[in-house]
Amino acid sequence: MHKLIEINAEEKWVSVQPGIVLDELNQLIYNSGLMFAPDPSTSNRSNVGGALGNNSCGAHSLVWGKTVDNVQDISGVLSNGDQIHFTNTSKSSLVEKTNKNTLESSIYKTLKKIPENYEKDILENFPDIQRRVSGYNLDELIHKSQVDFARFVIGSEGTLFSISEAKLKLVERPKHKALTLIFFKQLSEAMEATKVVLETMPSAIEVIDDMILNNARTNLQYSRLVNSFIDGNPKLC
Ligand SMILES: Cc1cc2nc3c(=O)[nH]c(=O)nc-3n(C[C@H](O)[C@H](O)[C@H](O)COP(=O)(O)OP(=O)(O)OC[C@H]3O[C@@H](n4cnc5c(N)ncnc54)[C@H](O)[C@@H]3O)c2cc1C
Repeated sequence: MHKLIEINAEEKWVSVQPGIVLDELNQLIYNSGLMFAPDPSTSNRSNVGGALGNNSCGAHSLVWGKTVDNVQDISGVLSNGDQIHFTNTSKSSLVEKTNKNTLESSIYKTLKKIPENYEKDILENFPDIQRRVSGYNLDELIHKSQVDFARFVIGSEGTLFSISEAKLKLVERPKHKALTLIFFKQLSEAMEATKVVLETMPSAIEVIDDMILNNARTNLQYSRLVNSFIDGNPKLC
């Protein structure tokens, strides 16, 4: 279950099985100039299924969003072995989906009732924050003429179905990269500066404190990098 099934570079999507490792996927599609954007720090070993299950983000979510923003369709298997396909669905197709005597149909019946019964609670209590990644995206069910069920289930941690295939959106790989280092004496100063730095529209911001630097120094690969741009042993207060 770790294969790349199909890539369409023109339409910028790729179909994959869930066991494919994120970095391996991006390596396989490298020549297309495209990439699957979510880049959690575990990307050299974590897989697409895990990113879909956790709604993983990564350092560059400022630009490309979370996994939920980078998925088109998801297929999988329900607890009784039936197959299910989650995608953008119109209200009329939703009515059709609820008309059968199957587990899939009963799931759609339940989902249809959620906005009817809980719209106010969802609108009032779902936090409007950039990195809300845990659990079902109930707000996707509210006020929509089309309901994107793929977006609804991302982050649901395998609690509804096992994903067997996903159609993922791809973005253009940046042609150039640049890194700016800003040194601070105190963590609070670094936090304050984030607001100003965000105005320059960076693709990522990371705080690197002495704990990270010291850990990096114990790793052969990273210690060379750390020693190439850090003098001495600075400590963030
Ligand atoms: C050290 C560390 C650093 C991290 N750094 C980041 C980070 O920088 N950014 C970030 O966003 N997140 C980060 N995370 C969390 C991140 O989301 C996960 O590390 C990673 O994306 C999960 O992938 P995995 O392959 O390990 O999945 P797993 O941990 O194996 O699975 C994650 C969830 O997905 C479900 N799942 C897996 N496969 C399927 C499937 N086929 N069908 C249905 N459900 C499935 C599992 O049941 C589980 O609930 C970090 C976690 C750790 C431990």
